[in-house]
Amino acid sequence: MIYKIGSRGSKLALAQTESVCRELKKRYPEHTFEIVIVKTKGDKVQDKPLDQVGGKGIFVKEIEEMILSDEIQMGVHSMKDMPARPAEGLIFSKVWKREDPRDVLILREKKRLQELRHGAVIGTGSKRRAFQLKKLRPDLQVVGIRGNVDTRLRKMEEQKLDGIVLAAAGLHRLGMGDRISQYFSEEEMIPAPAQGVLALELRKNNEELRKMLDACADEESQKEASSERQFLEAMGGGCHVPVGASCVKQKDGTYRFYGMFGTEDGSRIVYESAAGSDPGTLAESTAAAIRRKMAGTVFLTGAGPGDPDLITVKGRKILHQADCVIYDRLADPGLLSYVKKDCEKIYVGKENRHHVMEQEEINRLLAQKAMEHKVVVRLKGGDPFVFGRGGEEAMFLKKLGIPAQIIPGISSCIAGPAYAGIPVTHRGTSGGFHVVTAHDRNNKLADIDFEGMARSGETCIFLMGFSKIGEIVQKLQEAGMSPHMPAAVISRAASVNQKTCIGTLETIEERVRKNRMEPPAVIVAGKTVELSAFIGTVRQQKPYLVTKIGTKPSRLSELLRGRGVSVTEIQTGSIVMTEQKFTKDMLQKASWLIFTSRNGVKGFMKNLQDSDLDVRCLHHTKIAAIGQKTAHWLKKYGLLADLVPQIYDSGHLAQCLKQKAGKQDLVCHIKGKEGTSVLRDTLAPLCKYHEIEVYENQPVKIEKPGSPDQYAGTVFTCASSVRRFFGSMEAKTAEKWKREMRCFSIGTGTTSALQQIGAAKICEALQADYESLAAVIGKDVEDVSVSED
Ligand code: SAH
Repeated sequence: MIYKIGSRGSKLALAQTESVCRELKKRYPEHTFEIVIVKTKGDKVQDKPLDQVGGKGIFVKEIEEMILSDEIQMGVHSMKDMPARPAEGLIFSKVWKREDPRDVLILREKKRLQELRHGAVIGTGSKRRAFQLKKLRPDLQVVGIRGNVDTRLRKMEEQKLDGIVLAAAGLHRLGMGDRISQYFSEEEMIPAPAQGVLALELRKNNEELRKMLDACADEESQKEASSERQFLEAMGGGCHVPVGASCVKQKDGTYRFYGMFGTEDGSRIVYESAAGSDPGTLAESTAAAIRRKMAGTVFLTGAGPGDPDLITVKGRKILHQADCVIYDRLADPGLLSYVKKDCEKIYVGKENRHHVMEQEEINRLLAQKAMEHKVVVRLKGGDPFVFGRGGEEAMFLKKLGIPAQIIPGISSCIAGPAYAGIPVTHRGTSGGFHVVTAHDRNNKLADIDFEGMARSGETCIFLMGFSKIGEIVQKLQEAGMSPHMPAAVISRAASVNQKTCIGTLETIEERVRKNRMEPPAVIVAGKTVELSAFIGTVRQQKPYLVTKIGTKPSRLSELLRGRGVSVTEIQTGSIVMTEQKFTKDMLQKASWLIFTSRNGVKGFMKNLQDSDLDVRCLHHTKIAAIGQKTAHWLKKYGLLADLVPQIYDSGHLAQCLKQKAGKQDLVCHIKGKEGTSVLRDTLAPLCKYHEIEVYENQPVKIEKPGSPDQYAGTVFTCASSVRRFFGSMEAKTAEKWKREMRCFSIGTGTTSALQQIGAAKICEALQADYESLAAVIGKDVEDVSVSED
C-alpha cells in the first residue's frame, strides 16, 4: 500500500514529516510512504500577525481537505497549531514521543535574559510569549516577528533585535540546538498547549492507518498532551487569545500543571498551577481556577418578540451595563441603542438554516467573552428558554464554571396570539395550551403528539412551523380535530409589520398564501382564536424617531415611552464642556446672567468651581432662565431664577429682559457654541451684551435611519440636530424625508431650522419643553389610531 503524507514545505515542517516517515518505513517496510508538499494559506501570507489572517487553522486547512478527498492519507502538523478539535471527518492518532516542550531564547550577543540591557528588543509572533516576557522583564520591548526559523533568525540580525523566542522542539528537530542561549522553565514561560507534539491527522474511517500510527504512540506524551489540549478546549479553544498550558511529570511520578490565559488585548492575564496524580483532572481544575478568577457573568436575556419595548425592565437594565452583547436576528436591533458607547456588539444571527454561527461556536464565544468582560448579555428573541437553545448555553457555561443568569422574556408563543387578540387560555373555552416546535432536531413533525393535542381540546401553538403549515393542519385533522376548528397565523408579531390571518384548519393555508404572509410566524389552532373578533388586534404603531445629543437614552424618549409611544433614538451629537477661566471681578460686574439650557447651567457651575469660586460671588447678579426646567437645574445649585418668561423660548426671554436691562447693564448669556442669535439680536443694541460659551454640541457620525415610511414622525429638540440629521443623507434621500416625514419641533429655533431646510410637515410644541413636546406627540398617536380605525 502507498501512503501519501502531507506536509507544509518549510524546513521545519519537512524535518518533522521526514522523521515520521522514517519511523513508519522502519516499522512497516511492507508499505510505501511518500511525502507530498502542500502550500497553505499560512505559508503564503507572511507579513501579518497570525490572528489577523485567520488564526491557527490557516496552516492546516489545505492539508485537511486533501486528506478528506483521499488525495493524501495523512498529514503531519505541529499540534500547537491545531484548533482545539480536529475538523469534521478527521481524527488525530495517538501522540508519539514528544520533543522538548519548552520555549527558548536565542540572543544575538548576550548569553542570558538577565544580561540584556534595559529596554532591550525581543522578537516574537506570539502574544503568549510576549506577555510572559514582559512579566519576567517589564522593561523589555517586544516586537512582532513571523516566518520560519531561518527567516526569524535573519530578521533578528537584520533588524538588530537583541533576541527572539522560539520553541526548543523546532530547533532540535532542525539540528540547531546549539543556537539556543537559554531555556525557559515551565514556571518562567508556560509553553503553548501540546508544544513539541506532532499531530498526525487522518480520516476518521481509516482504521488500518490509525492502528499503524497508534502502535508508535508514547503513553506519557499522550497523557501530557491530552491534558494540555483539554485545558485549551476548556478555556474556549480560541486562537486569538493568549493561552499556555504545560503538564510536567515530577520525579516522584506525580504531575504539575501550569496554565495561563489572557484577554486578547492582554489587559488581564491569569496564571494558575496545580499538582496531583491525574493530568486530566489537573487540566480541569486549573482551567476552573482561572475561570473563577477571570470570568464575568453571562446574562441569558429574553428580548421579547419584536417590539423593543417588550423587553423586561430587568433586561433593559442589564443592557445598560453590558460590556458585550451577543445577539440573534430575532432580537430587535433597536434594543442595541440601550447599550453603552464602548459595548462590543456581536451578531450571531440564526435564521432558519442560514446560521451565521453554529451553536457550538456560539457557546465557545460566550465563554470567551465571559473571560474578557464583566457583563456579557446574550440577547435572544422572545424568551431564551423557549426554543431558544438558552438551556444548552446555560449548561455549557455552568459546566465551565462561568456564572450565568437568566432574564426571562416575553415569548412570541403567547405575545403573538395576544397581539392578534387571541387569548391562549379562556375560562370555559380552553383550559390550557400546547406550545410545540415544528422544527425539532430531525426537522420532522413525527415526534409531535397531534392526537394528544387534539384530544385535549386546548389551544395548540406551533413555532418554527411556517413552511410546514400545510402538513400541520393536515396532521391536526387526521388526529381528530374538526376541519372547521378556528386557526390563525400571526406573522412578525409585535412589529410594525405584524400581519394576522384567521381562518379554519381547512382554509388557513390558502389564506396565508394569498395574504403573502412571511416568517417568523406563530400558528394557532383552537377555539379561542374566535375570540379575536371580540378582543381586537393590538396594532403596533410605527415608532417616532427621536434625535438626541449624547449616548444615554434621552429624557424625552423616557417621557414618550411613559405615554405608550414607541420610540427609536438616533444620536446626532455629543456634549463636550468648554473650559473658561472666570474671575470674581468679571462675574460681579454682570447685572444679569442668562441661562438657556441645562448644559449651560452645568458648564457654568463646573467652570465656576474650576476657577476656585462659588455662588457667593453672584450675590449682586440677577439670574434669568429660559424655562422652568432650566430654573429647576439652577435651584439644584442653590440659585433661584429672578426671571422666567411665561412662554419658554428665546424670543419671550429677550422681550422680558429688554424691559429690565438698561444701557449700563452688562448681560452675560451662558450658552453653547451653537444656538440662535435671538437674544443677541434683541439685547446687544440695548445693553452691554456678552456671550460665554461653556459647552459645545459636537457632531457625531449619524447612523442611517432607513426610510421615512418606517416612522410615524421625527422629533427634533435643537436646530443643530435638524441640520445634521438631514445633512447626513444623500440629497435625494434628504428630499424624500423633507417631503414625507412629519417633523416635531420643540420650539421656534428648531422650527425655523426645519423651515430653512424645507421640511414640509412641521408640528411645534405649545411650549418649548419636553413635556409639551411629548404631549403633542402623544396626542398625535391618539389621532392616528382614531383615523385608522
Ligand atoms: N425564543 C423565541 C422563539 C425562538 S424560535 C420566543 O420565545 O419567542 C423562533 C420562532 O419563534 C419563529 O420561527 C416563530 O415561530 C416564532 N417567533 C419569534 N418571534 C416572532 C414574531 N415576532 N412573530 C411571530 N413569530 C415569532
